[in-house]
Amino acid sequence: MKKLIFPMFFLVFFACSSDNESETTTIIDESSVDITSVVQANFTNSYTNDVSVAVSGDYITISSTGLPDHKTPYWGSGHEMYEDFPGTNHANANTSMVAHNYAMTIPIYPQEAINKEETELGAVGMALNGAPIYNDYEGSGVLTEIAWSTFDSTGAHPGPGEDYHYHCEGTYLSVDENNLIGFLRDGFPVYGRKDADGSYPNDLDENGGHTGTTNDFSDEIYHYHISSEEYSTSGLFVIKSGAYHGTKGTFTQ
Ligand SMILES: [Zn+2]
Ligand SMILES: [Zn+2]
Repeated sequence: MKKLIFPMFFLVFFACSSDNESETTTIIDESSVDITSVVQANFTNSYTNDVSVAVSGDYITISSTGLPDHKTPYWGSGHEMYEDFPGTNHANANTSMVAHNYAMTIPIYPQEAINKEETELGAVGMALNGAPIYNDYEGSGVLTEIAWSTFDSTGAHPGPGEDYHYHCEGTYLSVDENNLIGFLRDGFPVYGRKDADGSYPNDLDENGGHTGTTNDFSDEIYHYHISSEEYSTSGLFVIKSGAYHGTKGTFTQ
């Protein structure tokens, strides 16, 4: 009987050590950068004054109503911040926008995830004025002309929940520039189409980002760029498609 115990014990030990091996392959990004001061310095809403930033432990939470601080037809005719649609084909734009109670919580030290999670419908990030950033999906599929014909001059519109959000580059966020426009839910910053030196990045990964210095980060940090490829026949440039580089935090409403 005693002889049987040894092989059994050995088997269990072997299984444990193989488990440990897979755990130690976790990527620890030792070059991760603290985003706190850049988040605190840049999130603001000059019109509604409704954006606040709170640090708690290793996370930072940005709260907002999601209403923009610029002109859009979605304020409604007669509003002091009303302007007409940029095009003539906006028959499907029949919703208004209302204030929400958003809170996006992101890691102070964003890190690359081992398994890159695809972005989905809904808020994938937040622009610097507190309005959500969406990807290239709308309703049951990718953006179509029905959707982009309802965009205002800033590449945004409200969804069925009267939730105003950006899909594309536009007059508020960036127009072929290199400025910071917001952060995605994984804590990594998003920039306009260009890099700090004014050139178009030529080494973006499949998720639209790469690592390097920016106007805001003197240490190299992973950051996304607005796509510099026109989206379909829209004449527009999508902010984000593909997966998160890091692990997404929460975005509540
Ligand atoms: Zn949308
Ligand atoms: Zn870049």
